[in-house]
Amino acid sequence: MTTQSMGSKDAGSPPVRDVLIVGGGTAGWLAAAYLARTLAISQPGGARISLVESPDIGILGVGEGTFPSIQRTLRRIGIDESVFMRESEATFKQGIRFDHWVRPPDTPGRSHYFHPFESAITPEGMDLLPYWLLGCADDGIGIDTAVTVQKGVADASLAPKRPGEADYAGALNYAYHFDAVKFARLLRTVAIDLGVRHVVDTVDAVPLAEDGTIAGVLTHRNGRLTADLYIDCTGFSAQLIGQALKSPYQSCRQWLFCDRAVALQVPYDRPDAPIPSYTISTAQEAGWTWDIGLESRRGTGHVYSSDHTDDTRAEQVLRDYIGPAAADKAARTFRFEAGFRPQPWVGNCVAIGLSGGFFEPLESTGIVMIEVAAVLLSSLFPWAGDMVTAARQFNRIMRQRYERAADFLKLHYCLTRRTDTAFWRDNADAATTPDTLRDLLDRWRHRPPEGLDFDLNLDTFSEASWRFVLYGMEYGTDLAAQAGAFRHKDEARRHFAAIRAGTAQALAALPRHRDLIQQIYRHG
Ligand code: FAD
Repeated sequence: MTTQSMGSKDAGSPPVRDVLIVGGGTAGWLAAAYLARTLAISQPGGARISLVESPDIGILGVGEGTFPSIQRTLRRIGIDESVFMRESEATFKQGIRFDHWVRPPDTPGRSHYFHPFESAITPEGMDLLPYWLLGCADDGIGIDTAVTVQKGVADASLAPKRPGEADYAGALNYAYHFDAVKFARLLRTVAIDLGVRHVVDTVDAVPLAEDGTIAGVLTHRNGRLTADLYIDCTGFSAQLIGQALKSPYQSCRQWLFCDRAVALQVPYDRPDAPIPSYTISTAQEAGWTWDIGLESRRGTGHVYSSDHTDDTRAEQVLRDYIGPAAADKAARTFRFEAGFRPQPWVGNCVAIGLSGGFFEPLESTGIVMIEVAAVLLSSLFPWAGDMVTAARQFNRIMRQRYERAADFLKLHYCLTRRTDTAFWRDNADAATTPDTLRDLLDRWRHRPPEGLDFDLNLDTFSEASWRFVLYGMEYGTDLAAQAGAFRHKDEARRHFAAIRAGTAQALAALPRHRDLIQQIYRHG
């Protein structure tokens, strides 16, 4: 590849055709594959996409949990589900189990709750939540068990679908866990097959034009590479959007305290051990641990606040959580600052992935935001050179997405009843909760979250997710004043009993998670 070979802007007419993605992690390759599929690349009139990635700077290689939106993204890219699962060592993820987030271990009360990906069952359109709040379900039963069969299925280490069911569809909604390095490799193969040009080289400098836009990127071996539009997927280093263009980073650390992680991969106790089909998220003294089951190993990590513990203690907490399997395993450490760039698109550069923002691993918002940005960029692609208009809309939507996701993440922390450590006390302090979240919680004192509280163009997490976390954290919505309005209690009780029976049927009908995974790996 030679100097200027990526194509350059025509001074008279500035249509956008040549796109240069810098960075080959999950963000770079997912954006490349998605845009390659949707922008008709290499076709007459289509866009041309190149991706440059450094042979010397590795990818982050964590990010093993996803959200169900990934199904649509992969289907749109055109990857068969079985190929994706086999190549990425993917397993099914039906939700997240939160252990000890409400109260510490060994205290009376529920020890965990589940955020399932399946929405609540609404028999004949009936919303059962108010009846659960009014005590019509069995005593002590959580909302996660009362209104879906998914918690029962997940508890039993079963899969969300049967063998032979169509790609990206199943009895129950799901996302995946996978090996992040293998996933990026698969996306690379797919993107290159779709026509993306792959350049292995390191960007040393990013010169700016007189108008402050990016004039090109200077590489070690290929000289200057230029394009009409640059996508910064360089991870935390944010070479283009941060270092060159100085788009500010807005910290959210005042709300989301976690800023470090330590990760370890460990084998199962025995090769045929059940694979949990959900992430196990366990609250710890100054953060939380994740535990993700792949086919051949577990991916574990501890996310924590450096204001509330130190690195040595944090690693020990992770090793104690894992037990003997961690003994001879080396740990990797990560540093980050929860936040985002309110202007991820500046001039001719768009940031996607860690360069645009990152909160923490909770609820897999990292990969979700990559998906959102890829879809948005594809829809708003400035074919006619209309970058300013496209950037304005992209920035507004991404900023609101981040702000609303930050509220959802803080919801997991701020309702805790834990007072055992400074981390949890500080999280429960109302001064560390954003006003926007406090406003939502005020609304829900006397009514549950409704569709009208959310905007699906801006909210990553729907009413269903908010409800499962809100009531999993034992928030008290008081319906006493309107209890008379809920006149169908007997009907609701019948429906709760039917969901219990449905859970028993699902347990009998669905295969063991490990069995289905092995069948998919072997036979597709
Ligand atoms: P990276 O993976 O860092 O890739 C950067 C790329 O840029 C590399 O290819 C590198 O070679 C290239 N590059 C950098 N500089 C240059 C240069 N000068 N020249 C050329 N190339 C360059 N997200 C989730 O959704 N779910 C999770 O469970 C989850 N867990 C996480 C756990 C931790 C501890 C952390 C820190 C993050 C987690 N995330 C998670 C976030 C997720 O890992 C990232 O969103 C995802 O990996 C995307 O990373 P990236 O592609 O933006 O950056």
